[in-house]
Amino acid sequence: ADIANPNGYDSGTLDYVDAMVVSRIRNQGPVFFKPMRDHHAVLQGVLARHPIEIIDEIAASKLRGRGGAGFPTGLKWRLAHEAEGGQKFIICNADEGEPGTFKDRCLLTRSPRDVLIGMVVAGFAVGARSGILYLRAEYWYLKDYLERHIGECREAGLLGDDILGSGFAFDIRIQMGAGAYICGDETALIESCEGKRGTPRVKPPYPIQSGYLGMPTVVNNVETFAIVSRIVEEGGRWYASMGTEKSSGTRLLSVSGDCARPGIYEIEWGMRLDEVLGMVGASRPMAVQVSGPSGECVSAAKDGGRVFCYSDLSCNGSLMIFDESRDLLGIIRHFMSFFVQESCGICTPCRSGCVDMLTKVDRVIGGKATKQDLEDCNAWGHLMRSTSRCGLGTTAAKPILTTMKSFPELYRDRLAVVDGPILASFDLEKA
Ligand code: NAD
Ligand code: SF4
Repeated sequence: ADIANPNGYDSGTLDYVDAMVVSRIRNQGPVFFKPMRDHHAVLQGVLARHPIEIIDEIAASKLRGRGGAGFPTGLKWRLAHEAEGGQKFIICNADEGEPGTFKDRCLLTRSPRDVLIGMVVAGFAVGARSGILYLRAEYWYLKDYLERHIGECREAGLLGDDILGSGFAFDIRIQMGAGAYICGDETALIESCEGKRGTPRVKPPYPIQSGYLGMPTVVNNVETFAIVSRIVEEGGRWYASMGTEKSSGTRLLSVSGDCARPGIYEIEWGMRLDEVLGMVGASRPMAVQVSGPSGECVSAAKDGGRVFCYSDLSCNGSLMIFDESRDLLGIIRHFMSFFVQESCGICTPCRSGCVDMLTKVDRVIGGKATKQDLEDCNAWGHLMRSTSRCGLGTTAAKPILTTMKSFPELYRDRLAVVDGPILASFDLEKA
């Protein structure tokens, strides 16, 4: 099989979008996957305004970064606009490596121009002339397809030295990743772009202060740039009219696992988990892994009323649904071994903690774990969260910690009663 294109996709067509796309937006049409009306006219409108007006428009939309942490995009751009020091850069993070997440791939396939134009808008707003689209190695098959779109944008005057005769210059190049999950972290990604090993930097300084080549750099996710295109087309207030007060707009979800209709869904922030599970045809859900292994594993029975928003289920773009036929501990073990393999190893809490946590899961699975093992998981997991350098280490214990909370019986039932009464005094629900 072709390692760059294992499924034999034809990169000359859109036929390789193998996911179902469904929008569920109240009182509005879909935001994504509807062709932008006229990239040319929209960009011309942007270039006729002052960069600060564009930043104000993005701020008015209340858009928060879709990479996961939810930092306000308008604020990030304003800080980058004000940053001093040489050339500035825009980076699109298309290193979509979180297991279970495939919505950026779909966006890049269906709406590549929206993403590219979003990068141009960001460049204009902050004063950057160069953009880098960092594409994960597993998406090699998309490279030619995206290069073709970039070329067509140049021919149409939407990229290049004098965009639409405005005097504004901006161009985009594609940088391929090499298969490391850690390069999804923005500072590891920047190191990788500089030709170095992808190791996260200590923050601060943030990339808007010192990013690519030490210059102010805005890193945003694919989905964020696609939304930006919509916002400059329809207006910030329009976008803010969807979703909730603090989580505006819509969110793409990659839905997989035990449901009748897996695929890509666009929902408004504010929907409940049980509504989404019904929509995708999950008839007997037991557990839902929200945001991949680095997110939360919640119970469909107990958490159905929870709401998708940054202050509750701040979903990073994926739901993996598991019904009762699944071996949840086996899945947790799989996630932990993923983190063991993908940790860059530069800081001890993560390098060692991931291995230690995997050992603990093995003890639970093997029926050898004691109360002390579970207390260790709890203590070490929180230590990893508070002392690791980057998001990988801070979230790596979540598969264990969140299943201990949502499914305490999973652990309780496997404990070895070898050192006296264990469960009488230990309440896993409070772990
Ligand atoms: P972060 O909170 O440090 O930063 C979020 C963004 O805001 C970054 O771009 C950062 O540069 C910027 N920022 C934060 N504070 C700033 C400041 N004071 N001034 C200027 N800019 C500032 O989060 P992070 O470490 O970049 O990302 C962690 C998140 O990534 C986690 O919340 C997790 O949910 C998510 N994550 C995503 C994936 C994925 O595949 N998308 C995988 C693992 C983790
Ligand atoms: Fe590397 Fe893990 Fe430390 Fe992140 S937390 S810098 S992946 S060792």
